[in-house]
Amino acid sequence: MFGYHIRRALIKALIVIAAAEPIMAFSLITAGSAATGEQRRAAIVIDDFGNGMSGTEDMLRLPVPFTAAVMPFLPMTKRDAEAAHKLHHDVIIHLPMEPKKGVKSWLGPGAITTDLSDGEIRKRVEAAIADVPYAVGMNNHMGSKATADERVMRIVLGVCREHGLFFLDSRTAWKSVIPRIGEELGVPVIRNSVFLDDVYTTSHIAKQLSVFDKRLNEQGTCIAIGHVGPQGKKTAAALSAAIPGLKRSTTFVRASDVVRRLLRDQLIIPNGISDGGGNPLLLARVD
Ligand SMILES: [Zn+2]
Repeated sequence: MFGYHIRRALIKALIVIAAAEPIMAFSLITAGSAATGEQRRAAIVIDDFGNGMSGTEDMLRLPVPFTAAVMPFLPMTKRDAEAAHKLHHDVIIHLPMEPKKGVKSWLGPGAITTDLSDGEIRKRVEAAIADVPYAVGMNNHMGSKATADERVMRIVLGVCREHGLFFLDSRTAWKSVIPRIGEELGVPVIRNSVFLDDVYTTSHIAKQLSVFDKRLNEQGTCIAIGHVGPQGKKTAAALSAAIPGLKRSTTFVRASDVVRRLLRDQLIIPNGISDGGGNPLLLARVD
């Protein structure tokens, strides 16, 4: 599990990138490191492992550390999580959550839907965590409806806190309540700035990789999400081709490295980083 402890007596609030405007906060935190000439830090997250989807092996062979988001309760859940862990990638739980539009069967087993009771949601989140070995965090599969639901997210993030997991808000909903509730409960929340392959064409993926490159220049650190599945082989091929060039100016990191570094940076500059609205982002002690 993610190894940090929060000394409650010392904190008023713990929040990493979660705030009214997380991108702003993220930029504020990372702009300094870019300006001082440090290498850019790229965190690639690949969603939808666990079901033997196309591109799974290609992704696992990428020559840099990344974060594998593995869906629970599927035939390859354990195999993919173990393979990723063995290769020193991060494993996170890719929790299926109810979208505004779409068919429930797309969600897969154990999905979190807004019609479930508090007890059932908790049970399902606990079971998902138990089903994905080596997980250090969690993100949402779909979820435009569930991630905007305060009752649901309070339970999901509460269980994350109990297990020492961070949450990557994959931003399927503009009205996501994850940053605010993460802050309230003391769960580190990060989010991606780029989706690499929401359109399944090589030209779109190439375009998104150049957006990723630009964001890395602007932010210093940037999280991009890609997928195994129909577009998996194309995304893996595009990443394999781009990685040697990027490596000259970029360190590839895992999502947990991003969280750890943000916690550290904010400890070094206590109260010095705000969300632009005057709210301190982190008043936390990490042992
Ligand atoms: Zn997904």
